[in-house]
Amino acid sequence: MNILLIGIQGCGKGTQAMILEEKFGWKHITTGNLLRESIENKTKLGLTAKKFMDEGELVPDKYVFKIVEDALSNIEKGSILDGFPRNMEQLKYLEKNFTIDKVVLLELSDEKAIERVSSRRNCVDCKKDYNLLYSKPEKEGICDVCGGEIVQRDDDHEEAIIKRIEKFYKDTSEVISYFSNAAKLIRVNADDPINIIQENIVKALNV
Ligand SMILES: [Zn+2]
Repeated sequence: MNILLIGIQGCGKGTQAMILEEKFGWKHITTGNLLRESIENKTKLGLTAKKFMDEGELVPDKYVFKIVEDALSNIEKGSILDGFPRNMEQLKYLEKNFTIDKVVLLELSDEKAIERVSSRRNCVDCKKDYNLLYSKPEKEGICDVCGGEIVQRDDDHEEAIIKRIEKFYKDTSEVISYFSNAAKLIRVNADDPINIIQENIVKALNV
């Protein structure tokens, strides 16, 4: 089973992917993870990608595609694609050699997404993640682990989040209709508790 998890930032797809990976042994694939792995393993592609990242540039699609392709060729039980493909161009490329069986769209309102993401905080020293909604530090502004200062990343300010949500819909709505027309789309309410969302995904996938 190869599935694609899709949804705006804050919908919790990373968490759901981790649970599915543990439960079914499907490999959780994000381009970020794959890039990190190939850099750690010092593969030729990894080293090429690192050059771009060191310059603060996005890794060009052709390298990202190749890295995803290599990872997918080693799949045994199944895979969970997370955040890729996010547009028709990437999808067309992927579908040349690969079949996505089901697509799970984790639906969350823009307001909820903004509320969740803008509540994120990080420790400047040990990088521990906090969220003022679910996992506050004991003392305001101070890291429980190392006593470092807790700050909000520029990326997590409301204007930045809104921009990313708009970009998501602009890039991805065609992908969503494509899978909806192919009767492969499953819509799941992402505003439920984590375990309920997981149950609904598993039920809908019929696994
Ligand atoms: Zn810390």
